[in-house]
Amino acid sequence: MTEPSPHNGHAFAVIGAGINGTAVAREITRRFPDSSVTVFEKSDRVAAHQSGHNSGVVHAGLYYEPGSLKARLCRRGVDLLHDYARSHQLPFEECGKLVVALNQEEEVRLRGIFERAVANGVPDVELIGPDRIREIEPNSVGRLALHSPHTAITDYAAIAHSFAEEVEAAGGTIRLNSEVVDMSVEPHGCTITSVRGAGGRSPGGRSARARGNHTRRVESFDFVIACAGLQSDRVAQMAGGAAHPTIVPFFGQYSQLAPEHRTILNGLVYPVPDPAYPFLGVHLTKRVDGEMLVGPNAFLSFGRENYSGRTIGIKDSLAVAADPAFWKFAAGNLKAAVREFSAVVSRKKFLAGAAEYVPSLEGAASKPIPRGIRAQAMDADGGLVDDFVIEQQGRATLIRNAPSPGATSSMAIAEHIVDVVAQSH
Ligand SMILES: Cc1cc2nc3c(=O)[nH]c(=O)nc-3n(C[C@H](O)[C@H](O)[C@H](O)COP(=O)(O)OP(=O)(O)OC[C@H]3O[C@@H](n4cnc5c(N)ncnc54)[C@H](O)[C@@H]3O)c2cc1C
Repeated sequence: MTEPSPHNGHAFAVIGAGINGTAVAREITRRFPDSSVTVFEKSDRVAAHQSGHNSGVVHAGLYYEPGSLKARLCRRGVDLLHDYARSHQLPFEECGKLVVALNQEEEVRLRGIFERAVANGVPDVELIGPDRIREIEPNSVGRLALHSPHTAITDYAAIAHSFAEEVEAAGGTIRLNSEVVDMSVEPHGCTITSVRGAGGRSPGGRSARARGNHTRRVESFDFVIACAGLQSDRVAQMAGGAAHPTIVPFFGQYSQLAPEHRTILNGLVYPVPDPAYPFLGVHLTKRVDGEMLVGPNAFLSFGRENYSGRTIGIKDSLAVAADPAFWKFAAGNLKAAVREFSAVVSRKKFLAGAAEYVPSLEGAASKPIPRGIRAQAMDADGGLVDDFVIEQQGRATLIRNAPSPGATSSMAIAEHIVDVVAQSH
């Protein structure tokens, strides 16, 4: 595994202990075992944000533009994750997935997705009619469906914890409650200023820094890799990156079906996605603990880390409102936003959407569970960026967009980033 590389013996800093940061740190310890790696994480735990609040689906690579980073890294990521989960006794269940078209317009779009899936090398995908739909999922209906038998589910927080344990076992450091507040990128390295608080956030949500309960450290590293998720644009700007792509947070609500509906499906059932949005639509997802979820929807979040949805994050909301690109995006998406909003305020409406392709869900009992918040990058023209974006600012490598299938792809993203760093210096 050890590479004859100039990077052995260097000091690496990784910002963010989500699944991407921990995967990158693990990859560094494997490829450059004589180097040191320090992971800075502002929260009090690993996988505190997107990596711990998602659908847990191991996407097979159906939707993505052939040749894009998403398409390539998702397929490679599935293989790596499958082998990792199996060899570490972590959950990985190939429960399969249907993407269901309900009308002619969706049928046309579904055929396009099928072509992409084939071009991306997704194994064993097929288009099936109503009878076969019923054989695979007796409670689902549709005119046409795409069947992906190898789409799987896992627990991404458990995977990220396992990566972090491996990093520590290899001599790396995971520094929780340590927020990177400044960075300067020099020709031969990077200087990082971090604030380490005792106990992370207060119950009121104030950071240790805001409470004045902190220690400040300034340290030098040879290379920095930022995997900062919802804060990735802010961290990129610390390293001298441009303001765009900026992060627009979109929350996704989930409903957990009552126990009697747990077996309503054998696997996952998704609608055909709305091409106006880079999200997959409200789907039915089996979780590895046996629970059945409906969600997530997608609506603008008034705060990047505001999981309750009951407060407004002033700093984050003002940042979105002050960005002319957001208003361009909003002007072009009003219709979709109104439709999504009706499902945000009414759980009945939310479930009714899913009942169109699983009719026995009509009137099913459910309860809300914590939402997830997606870090979705937006360009200066108000367009939502579809592909993964990884940027270099000298010795700093910055993930600027890693939405779904970012967790599926994490081990391949890590491989790719470490290759990029190794080749460019
Ligand atoms: C609702 C939802 C459903 C999803 N479903 C799926 C799915 O089914 N399958 C899939 O493959 N993907 C899915 N995704 C996407 C997936 O969760 C993300 O792509 C992935 O988790 C991104 O991981 P990350 O490590 O880049 O970011 P994160 O998990 O967000 O981690 C970033 C970390 O950086 C830390 N950080 C930020 N700024 C600083 C700083 N200045 N100093 C120190 N630390 C900092 C944060 O505290 C955070 O812990 C979903 C996402 C959401 C929100």
